[in-house]
Amino acid sequence: MCGIIGAFGKNEVASLAIQSLVALQHRGQESWGVLTYEGKDSQRFHSHRMRGFVEADIETIARLKGSVAIGHVRYGTSGGSNLRNAQPFFGETRFGGVGIAHNGNLLNTEEIRTFHLESGSIYQSTSDTEAILHLLSRSRKKTFEECLVDALNQVKGAYSLVILSEEGLLIGLRDPRGFRPLSLGKKDGCYLLASETCVWNEIGAEFIRELQHGEMVVVSHDTIESSFPFASKKCKHCVFEQIYFSRPDSMVDDLLVSSSRYRIGKVLAAEAPADADFVSPVPESGVASAEGYAKVSGLRLKRGLIRKRSYNARTFIQPTEDLRQEGVRRKYCPDPAILFGKKVVLVDDSVVRGTTFRLLVEMVREAGAIEVHLRIASPPFKHHCIYGIDTPSDGELLASTMSIEEMRKYFNADSLAFISLKGLHHALGEDICPSKSRFCNACFTGNYPVL
Ligand code: 5GP
Ligand code: MG
Repeated sequence: MCGIIGAFGKNEVASLAIQSLVALQHRGQESWGVLTYEGKDSQRFHSHRMRGFVEADIETIARLKGSVAIGHVRYGTSGGSNLRNAQPFFGETRFGGVGIAHNGNLLNTEEIRTFHLESGSIYQSTSDTEAILHLLSRSRKKTFEECLVDALNQVKGAYSLVILSEEGLLIGLRDPRGFRPLSLGKKDGCYLLASETCVWNEIGAEFIRELQHGEMVVVSHDTIESSFPFASKKCKHCVFEQIYFSRPDSMVDDLLVSSSRYRIGKVLAAEAPADADFVSPVPESGVASAEGYAKVSGLRLKRGLIRKRSYNARTFIQPTEDLRQEGVRRKYCPDPAILFGKKVVLVDDSVVRGTTFRLLVEMVREAGAIEVHLRIASPPFKHHCIYGIDTPSDGELLASTMSIEEMRKYFNADSLAFISLKGLHHALGEDICPSKSRFCNACFTGNYPVL
């Protein structure tokens, strides 16, 4: 959850920063913010943080003066949704002003925070990210960069960060395991950082490269200085970025996301064929894997479900099951012209609580389908994510409480199959033991790379 951007230009960058955030809107819709830096002798930093979708008028953009910027879109979680938790965060330190925006989740910041509060610190938010600012400010190392690395050596968990400092430094980095993505781009002489490369497609920027796990880049007018300041760790990119989270037109961790999903669908079809008349994706997240499934199965791909365009609110994030169910009903329209009297394979990316399929099977049957076969483009999701994908606790994850046969009955489906863990890794180009993978698969295996 969450998306981050950074921009280092020669002229005003607020507009470019905001356009970049729009391209990351799928990574967070709860709140957004931009922090710009204008230079030492001026008003210096300008900040704008808002709830909801990214949207800015001309006056706002004009007020956000400066040639360096960082920005953030926030994904709603169960608690702490007020504006105080909107990023970027900003604080005054002995190095001057520092801004930070974070994608990921930190695991030990509660202890750090308690220690700080007991020794007299004042926190502005309830977010884990703020601890990094405090650690940085308290570090006794010499330079700003040394203090930043010192701070990060004290936190555990997942973090891709963009940081803006008083000297007008723009820093981007990925934690030693590289859970969350971060990529470098360039437009009109302006260096850019963004969570996903779909930003470059959307704003017409040149893709330079993705940051590696544990890499820190310091961006200035015409150079990018790269270093690896942390003790080296095995790379563990988030596999769920490939399955669901990233936009399909992004390249994440050297893989084109829509191609990953297409290949996952192909492997799924080989592992779990179905006797049916056609394949229908559950839009949008199941589209690419349904195409792969159709290709290998030889079945035609048809759109048995339409996703309503006007639909905006997120069903997955609704606080109660009733609201989530109503959301699913409003979001999908089964097309009887396609479904009536037919045997259909529905392909979706994942089963989390099971809300979607429980209703979809009923709706697809109401539209006249005579058999409904469910195929899932990820293995059973059994363990909640602690690295920044917003998932419910293990007890609410359907696959952690039911066997596949129990889930099939719960969904009232004629058959149900998930891609195997081995098959998933194979589709992502790895034919090795899944524990040796460059991807974190803790949501499927419970093997958390860092606790
Ligand atoms: P379920 O309805 O089983 O609880 O969730 C599965 C559906 O939610 C799938 O259609 C999948 O695309 C979507 N989904 C999976 N993970 C996430 C997530 O982290 N956030 C949101 N908003 N949707 C998700
Ligand atoms: Mg979906």
